[in-house]
Amino acid sequence: MSRSLPNIIITGTPGVGKTSHCELLAERTGLKHVSVNQVVKDKECHEGWDEEYQSWIVDEDKLLDAIEDEVKQGGCIIDWHACDLFPQSWIDLVVVLRVDTATLYDRLIERKYPEAKLQENIDSEIMDVLLQEARDSYDEEIVVELRSVTADDMESNVDRIEQWLKQWKENNAS
Ligand code: ADP
Ligand code: MN
Repeated sequence: MSRSLPNIIITGTPGVGKTSHCELLAERTGLKHVSVNQVVKDKECHEGWDEEYQSWIVDEDKLLDAIEDEVKQGGCIIDWHACDLFPQSWIDLVVVLRVDTATLYDRLIERKYPEAKLQENIDSEIMDVLLQEARDSYDEEIVVELRSVTADDMESNVDRIEQWLKQWKENNAS
């Protein structure tokens, strides 16, 4: 492996706190926040807009092509509510953020999610869908489940990832 900095995925159900974590982590570490939402929009990695779900229908092959060069250089924090599409060889750490149902419900209501999308996301969180996807797609040693309910949770999560990064750099120093 030739990366001089690791790649981290921050994943979880929409509303769980991915973007907030990525922004804070990027600010603290200098790693690059790769917002997949933004890439999908900017580089048109989609097959159109789903009206009912109010979201893009993502073309995963196009998306991978769009971010491959950047991610292969290392030092990326990937912000996306799926993780099974990224090749295992690209990724060093997978953080799955978790939240309780009541908190998630409030956050998605705040976002004015349409009913079908709101319910699907609540169900997905209850049924551990993203955690399972992460465990099925990556070695279990690199998958970490972290709680994201309070601001204190976010602080301690980011601290913990910073510690992990420091360790990774020591282990990979040439
Ligand atoms: P995602 O990117 O996973 O959809 P966001 O980072 O946009 O989630 O967070 C959704 C909302 O929940 C935002 O209003 C954010 O401020 C809030 N939030 C997320 N995580 C936390 C947390 N750990 N503590 C307090 N508020 C949070
Ligand atoms: Mn987000």
